[in-house]
Amino acid sequence: MRDLKGRFIKGNKFPKSEEFRKKVSKTLMGHLISEETKNKISKTLIGRKLTEGHIEKLKAKSWMNNQSGENNRMWKGGISKTVEYKRHMRKENKLKRKQVEGSHTLEEWNQLCKTYQYMCLCCKSTDVKLTEDHIIPISMGGTNDIWNIQPLCGSCNSIKHAKTIDYRERMVI
Ligand SMILES: [Zn+2]
Repeated sequence: MRDLKGRFIKGNKFPKSEEFRKKVSKTLMGHLISEETKNKISKTLIGRKLTEGHIEKLKAKSWMNNQSGENNRMWKGGISKTVEYKRHMRKENKLKRKQVEGSHTLEEWNQLCKTYQYMCLCCKSTDVKLTEDHIIPISMGGTNDIWNIQPLCGSCNSIKHAKTIDYRERMVI
């Protein structure tokens, strides 16, 4: 390739102005590779020898793939993709940012709900969506540990608001 003054330029050194790029992309738009070209390309690729570097790269890639998902030592049984887990982690992280002490896992919360037979400890309803209520409110220095959590339905939780009511004491399991 030569520039306007006829000097020889190596491949990439050709100045690519915005205008030029647009022109190229316009030319390539909707341009399909013909069958012939495809065949030519695949023929070139067959039997191509990989360089040492390339092999190493592929090895590293396959190792990375082997470490993902179930094979990873951090695998938690595929819960990280569930809506509940994401919601739980968002809440946990929010509290952590507020420098609230303590934490609990989604498993612990589920276990707690199971212990109380998925019942709101205030109104005793069982067919309600349970929310995590901090017995000693965070605003009053309560922690986010599981022992400071009780399952309440949404309406009971909002009624309780920032008071310290331990419904667990009133429960006989
Ligand atoms: Zn309730």
